[in-house]
Amino acid sequence: MALSEIKERVAKAERAAGRAAGSVTLIAVSKVQPNARVEAVLEQGHRVFGENKVQEAAGKWPEFRTRFQGVEVHLIGPLQTNKARQAMELFEAIHSLDRPKLATTLARLAQDIGQCPDLFIQVNTGEEEQKAGVLPAQADDFVSECRGLDLPVKGLMCIPPVDEEPSLHFALLGKIAARNGLTGLSMGMSSDFESAIALGATHVRVGSAIFGERDYG
Ligand SMILES: *Cc1c(COP(=O)(O)O)cnc(C)c1O
Repeated sequence: MALSEIKERVAKAERAAGRAAGSVTLIAVSKVQPNARVEAVLEQGHRVFGENKVQEAAGKWPEFRTRFQGVEVHLIGPLQTNKARQAMELFEAIHSLDRPKLATTLARLAQDIGQCPDLFIQVNTGEEEQKAGVLPAQADDFVSECRGLDLPVKGLMCIPPVDEEPSLHFALLGKIAARNGLTGLSMGMSSDFESAIALGATHVRVGSAIFGERDYG
């Protein structure tokens, strides 16, 4: 099955980069996938998953969590402030902290709830109009702002432009993280996770290579 193959490739990329075994967390991106495929991956013992929509995650994970111990679900898609509370209750990590208004909302809710998921700040490394994330030039200020709000920022996240060499973006994200003293790097998907690991990824988000193509039909 594809999961074991991807796990082997992650391990091999860790070794090739001289990194410790297990230093990279494989997030199995289950968005849009039929429950049977997700269940098959759970049955094989995998526990870390990624979803890009609050609503979709709310519809499938509470049930899976009752049947499988130790599940961890990461939100990897954009988050509207009016869904922030629900997201904080559903996810162990949020990879899409991308603007001041969301940061202040999460900080207020964290006070209220008494806990907060691990956070990754999304950086729009390709400076694409249609893509979420803070611009590279604003990243340092935004990291400080989030720290000032006592938010548990673990690292940075990026989604490189489809038509560009991803390694340039991975390297840029790594540089921004290093100068801000951040160790977490959420980068790399099905087609480029090995190159992301070579450039320091701590979290790779792999969907179709594990589950098969998504059917949006
Ligand atoms: C869907 C998605 C992925 C997984 O993409 P694949 O190419 O299927 O591995 C990774 N990251 C984000 C933010 C996504 O939305």
